[in-house]
Amino acid sequence: MLPSFFDSVLQLIVRTSTDLPPDVRAAMRLARENEPTETRSGQALTIIAQNIDLAVDGEGAICQDTGMPTFEVRTPVGANQIWMRAQIREAIAEATRRGKLRPNSVDSITGANSGDNLGPGTPIIHFEQWEKDDIEVKLILKGGGCENTNAQYSLPVELPHLGRADRTLEGVKKAILHAVWNAQGKGCSPGAVGVCIGGDRTSGYTHAKEQLFRTLDDVNPDKRLAELEASIMGTVNNLDIGTMGFGGNVTLIGCKIGVLNRLPASFFVSVAYDCWAFRRLGVVLDASGAIDHWLYRDPSHPIIPMLDQAGFTRTGREVVLQAPLGEADVRSLKVGDVVLVSGPVFTGRDAVHSHLMKHDPPVDLRGSVLYHCGPVVVKEGDRWRVTAAGPTTSIREEPYQGEIIKRYGVRAVIGKGGMGAKTLAALKEHGAVYLNAIGGAAQFYARTIERVDDVSLMEFGTPEAMWHLTVKEFPAIVTMDAHGNSLHKDIEQESGQHLEAMMA
Ligand code: SF4
Repeated sequence: MLPSFFDSVLQLIVRTSTDLPPDVRAAMRLARENEPTETRSGQALTIIAQNIDLAVDGEGAICQDTGMPTFEVRTPVGANQIWMRAQIREAIAEATRRGKLRPNSVDSITGANSGDNLGPGTPIIHFEQWEKDDIEVKLILKGGGCENTNAQYSLPVELPHLGRADRTLEGVKKAILHAVWNAQGKGCSPGAVGVCIGGDRTSGYTHAKEQLFRTLDDVNPDKRLAELEASIMGTVNNLDIGTMGFGGNVTLIGCKIGVLNRLPASFFVSVAYDCWAFRRLGVVLDASGAIDHWLYRDPSHPIIPMLDQAGFTRTGREVVLQAPLGEADVRSLKVGDVVLVSGPVFTGRDAVHSHLMKHDPPVDLRGSVLYHCGPVVVKEGDRWRVTAAGPTTSIREEPYQGEIIKRYGVRAVIGKGGMGAKTLAALKEHGAVYLNAIGGAAQFYARTIERVDDVSLMEFGTPEAMWHLTVKEFPAIVTMDAHGNSLHKDIEQESGQHLEAMMA
């Protein structure tokens, strides 16, 4: 067998979760250069840059959502793929035990978390044989927030702001633009899209995701597709969606398009959206299973830090919020304000929200700050320590949030990507605000957590439990206020108008 195979795969997982590949770093550096630092997007990009540095320095997960691990493995003819699959699964479980991956695999019917990232369909492992002696293992970790913004179009189709998308490359362009516009900041922009033209519904999505294994700076060998990729990049970055959907100059850092044959009756365009935390690496193994060389990165080149500063850069305009909050505290806030939250914060994701609709909360939530977050948490002796704690996508809680604000007196909700009309109405009626934190900045936010005070509802598993945290100067932006204003609604409308004007 291959005595070093397990260790090599484990190294690949840990490195992928903690160290962004050089091509993505370069794209994010460029994004920072193109965004004035004092703007909302500029401030967000500064936090993201610090987060990237913190993750690699401390070998911590770049984002707390370590995603669906997807392996693409190429093996020589005759290699034992059954054994390799078992080893890869064991390496995933070990990386989870070490806190490098968040336990992310849940039973689809009961919601029970397997605790080790193993389960039917998790992780995804694709094998392919090739006529070489090497073994190549590539890995992508793609989180739920961006996965939920994937889209598939069956052309021809009528699209808002874009009109009819026909079975032409122009129609394909419209479908891709619609997917990016529809994602807004929910997939933690600036993101990258992998696209497949054609195939069937299943192969289309698979091939779209495979495009994300291309480097951001490569050039498509198919001239027609290279032109389409360039044309998409030229258009989307004028939509003014920006980082986290805050408005700004950089919405996408890459567009990679592949093509498959299709049935004459079908014409699918499949779009796989990946966030800025674009975690993808690979290794080529020698005959013992040891790493011969890395793909996408060269360990002999030093990692260049994204920036040379630590901590949040204050402008002097930040509003300090000390939780628990009163109604006057939140009514005085308006969209665009940058806040620094200190004091107790409670986490709550899907399971907690669903629970609170039927049961009283385990703590008094009057005046509270509720954080949409599923942290990575490790137990050290009898204490818990949060090692990664960025926001999760808030829109999933839209069916519950307004009622929870009303029933329990929550004054601030922290999350990412914004919420809908029901929550906006509840914020106004009951006096509360929505604070948008920077998606994926899990290391940065983990360092604002002074301590874990307690935990409730552990039966939902660590990401879904309600963690009682004390935070200090946790930065976020008011994107929905208690006066009926929503930055998300405004940016969506304005970017839609930009789309119309560009395609007219
Ligand atoms: S950066 Fe955002 S979209 Fe990406 S995995 Fe993290 S939370 Fe999800």
